[in-house]
Amino acid sequence: MGKLLVIGCGGVASVAIQKCAANYEVFDEIMIASRTVSKCDALKKKLEDEKKTKAKISTARVDADNTEELIKLISSFKPEVVLNLALPYQDLTIMDACLRAGVNYVDTANYEAENTSDPEWRSVYEKRCREEGFTAYFDYSWQWAYQDKFKDAGLTALLGSGFDPGVTSVFSAYALKHYFDEIHYIDILDCNGGDHGYPFATNFNPEINLREVSANGSYWEDGHWVETKPMEIKREYDFDGVGKKDMYLLHHEEIESLAKNIPGVKRIRFFMTFGQSYLTHMKCLENVGMLGTEPVMYEGREIVPIQFLKALLPDPASLGPRTVGKTNIGCIFTGVKDGKEKSIYIYNICDHQECYKEVGSQAISYTTGVPAMIGAMLVMNGEWRKPGVYNLEELDPDPFMDALNKWGLPWVVDENPTLVE
Ligand code: NDP
Repeated sequence: MGKLLVIGCGGVASVAIQKCAANYEVFDEIMIASRTVSKCDALKKKLEDEKKTKAKISTARVDADNTEELIKLISSFKPEVVLNLALPYQDLTIMDACLRAGVNYVDTANYEAENTSDPEWRSVYEKRCREEGFTAYFDYSWQWAYQDKFKDAGLTALLGSGFDPGVTSVFSAYALKHYFDEIHYIDILDCNGGDHGYPFATNFNPEINLREVSANGSYWEDGHWVETKPMEIKREYDFDGVGKKDMYLLHHEEIESLAKNIPGVKRIRFFMTFGQSYLTHMKCLENVGMLGTEPVMYEGREIVPIQFLKALLPDPASLGPRTVGKTNIGCIFTGVKDGKEKSIYIYNICDHQECYKEVGSQAISYTTGVPAMIGAMLVMNGEWRKPGVYNLEELDPDPFMDALNKWGLPWVVDENPTLVE
């Protein structure tokens, strides 16, 4: 049992916090702290009105870009674990604050700079593009650099405890532990068969989502990165529970950590499904400059185009009641066991409306919020407490896999999957 501080109170946090509150035998006190405290208060009220938790809930306002403010809050609440469900921009300030206050850290997405034109950040980024061969604005180097600091402090930092990364990382560790002597190929397939009825909306934070999707794709092959143009590689796949969908190869953060942590892996690819309407809107918005992240002057004041776009688009948290259909996310592994080549597919199917009935959110927030709670639980209860900075595939997958079944994301293993060409 222990105290948990959750930072951020958006779509993912709302699910994670409800799951933490339901798991009050592990989290007996929860503080919800975010930039807009009214959202934290509203969630606290919902939890108290529903009377489903014995956990003590409190709220606070915090600016997670401000390390000193965070340290003050952490030091006064004294949690065992901080669960960062704000944006990837805040990862480093929150990690710094956890180190200074002596608290364990969990997040769901790797660090990304908010201001990509900052010259200091840019010089590190350009060096990495040259040396590593991929141009995504995010990578693990910033957070892996905290390894010794967390180790020396005797604290755990768990990186990427969402679905992808997160569950896909745990699926990889589980496949290696129970099904293979060596894994050679990993295809991560993220299918959202949900329909929210809008011509265009994003399922999670629009700024983060659109930056990811409009970037170059890339995959890992034979020890190096192969970069593609955005959406250059397309495949069709028939997903269990959803049906046939077009999917596109994207760069995704877990490729970087799996390439490092799965010995002998030869190729790792990540595919995500998109409908034609989404792609046409995105291309058009990109062409007119609405995905820009640098401020432009408009009628005497600076505005950032993608932030203005975010204000116009439906709030991802509001998609819950309208979204019908299912997600199917998982990994196809090919490798060898006892000298024979074999493939397996581990995946979860999640129904948008069932999620909405349970927690008032669509499946994208649900499939991220549940593993965020599980990661925090395993650090809190000690099963995954190990000084240092870890991606999920570095830890024993079994307790996490059991918890997925228990907390709403049951998985299946298909031992005769259709492979992706
Ligand atoms: P939202 O935009 O819905 O929520 C973000 C929350 O963080 C909001 O409550 C926001 O406050 C708060 N916040 C933002 N900046 C600050 C700040 N400076 N100080 C304090 N609070 C702040 O995002 P999502 O819930 O969709 O996503 C949350 C995280 O989950 C992101 O990092 C995202 O990348 C990650 N994610 C991971 C996935 C995975 O599978 N691994 C999948 C989907 C998302 P306010 O309410 O004021 O805006």
